[in-house]
Amino acid sequence: MPELPDVELYVDALRRRLVPRDAADAIDGDARPAVLERVRLASPFLLRTVMPPLSVTHGRTVTSVRRLGKRVVIGLGLLDGAPLYLVMHLMIAGRLQWKKKDAPVPGRIGLAMFDFSIESAGSAAGVSTKSAGSAADVSTKSAGSGAGVGRGSLAFTEASKKKRAKLHVVHGDEALDEHDPGGAEPLSIDVPTFAALLRAENHTIKRTLTDPRVLSGIGNAYSDEILFAAKLPPHRWTSKLTDEEIARLHTAMQSTLVAWRDRLIAETGDGWPEKVTAFRPEMAVHGKYGQPCPTCGSPVQRIAYADHETNYCATCQNEGQLLADRGLSRLLKGDWPKTLDQLEELKRERRR
Ligand SMILES: [Zn+2]
Repeated sequence: MPELPDVELYVDALRRRLVPRDAADAIDGDARPAVLERVRLASPFLLRTVMPPLSVTHGRTVTSVRRLGKRVVIGLGLLDGAPLYLVMHLMIAGRLQWKKKDAPVPGRIGLAMFDFSIESAGSAAGVSTKSAGSAADVSTKSAGSGAGVGRGSLAFTEASKKKRAKLHVVHGDEALDEHDPGGAEPLSIDVPTFAALLRAENHTIKRTLTDPRVLSGIGNAYSDEILFAAKLPPHRWTSKLTDEEIARLHTAMQSTLVAWRDRLIAETGDGWPEKVTAFRPEMAVHGKYGQPCPTCGSPVQRIAYADHETNYCATCQNEGQLLADRGLSRLLKGDWPKTLDQLEELKRERRR
């Protein structure tokens, strides 16, 4: 699942195409915001809201692009005095691709296309008031007014048979809040607040870091990298963390996420982030089971559960002790926990 650095990468690439700060920031040197001409839905499962209808977004000028947890939110100005948003939740296999304007929906994996043109002077107000009309009306009007300068089309894809990706049309900031799992922003949280969050409930650090109600945008991949940078084992109980360890974890969290966000944005440059993946060669431990730890050379370990695994270096993070010791392995054998919750429960039972 795309996590904070990946979603920030999409947000940055989209923002430069839809609401550039200035001509230098704009991908095509044109600082004007983009107009969403229309959305072409290819999958009936993608759109999870009924009201307001998708057609109200047609012909509207983009006013913002931002991240909400692991979601991408496109602001489309005010509708009846309240802000209108498109909320895209990529889930696990959802991805975004930037295509030539009006390109066909990518076969098989395409869920929807969002066609963007550049706002032409004076056309926006006219198109906005017509937004209640049908898509066909707006398209015709856009073309007729000369606003149809192609900026591009955004493809929402999902390379999985399980259709989990979601699109919501959201009206009003209160309605948008319902899409916010409520986790604190890891890049702006201070150490005392972070410590209070960690100690509010006793869980493994891995589970707490990846709980979207606690922290926003951290998943399986970056939590592995954060814990490695903090030199802490993933299954240490949060109640056992010292003040010094919490401060170390806080620094590791912020430096890891910022370094990855900046690296991905720099690597992408003016291009489009084609490869958004949880597995990157430069990662230290995530997805590196059996490979040498970049710090000490010991083989990277794993704890498998459900359809993914936690990776760590026993030498750097746990004083050389394997977490999946024989007893735990036997306990887990044939009864792999589906979630970290279940894994914690098994560990709890074992300690009794
Ligand atoms: Zn190591």
